[in-house]
Amino acid sequence: MSKKERKLSAAEQRRKEKFLEKCSTMETEGYRMENLSFSVLQINLLSVFIALPVNFLFMFSYFLFNDFSLRSVYLPYAPLLFLLIFLLLIVVHEAIHGITWGYFAPDGRKSIEYGVIWQALTPYCTCSSPLTKKQYFWGALMPTIILGFLPGIIAIITGWEPLFFVSQFMILAGAGDFLIVARLLLHRPKNAQVIYLDHPYECGLVAFLKNID
Ligand SMILES: [Zn+2]
Repeated sequence: MSKKERKLSAAEQRRKEKFLEKCSTMETEGYRMENLSFSVLQINLLSVFIALPVNFLFMFSYFLFNDFSLRSVYLPYAPLLFLLIFLLLIVVHEAIHGITWGYFAPDGRKSIEYGVIWQALTPYCTCSSPLTKKQYFWGALMPTIILGFLPGIIAIITGWEPLFFVSQFMILAGAGDFLIVARLLLHRPKNAQVIYLDHPYECGLVAFLKNID
């Protein structure tokens, strides 16, 4: 948890209380908690460094097979249109997190909640059910696969520039998820049973570990 916690909304406060209850239950069951989350500020600062190399890789591939004219962004209506499409796709991005995690979660869609951290203009989706590493991984990456990687590849093949732009923005929008997934993949405790739980109000997750003898 960050030292200086931002002011939590009523929904976040409620989730925090439920989460603390869950933590003490897990402790009595012999688990210890490890925090693998990031603050919103950390995510916003660090994630760009992760997304940009991916964007460059896509741009390199696009250049290799297509002319790059920047035609679409010069159209007078395009910036506004892109903004609208982008905002709509951000909502779809969060919905894909929710659908994927809801599919895996033992409590299904009941464990999924959506909201916006207004101070950082960051929309979020959170899952209150424990998940395995694989389940958390797929739920975290699915929006960027569907809205970023797939359309990016289709745009490279077809040379459809507007689709390429949108896909690259959606990869950038998913950068925070890359960071969370990187931390998840680097978490490799030995001889321990691990359960992952989405953090109730920060970005990322916490791990509950129990030693296996
Ligand atoms: Zn996301």
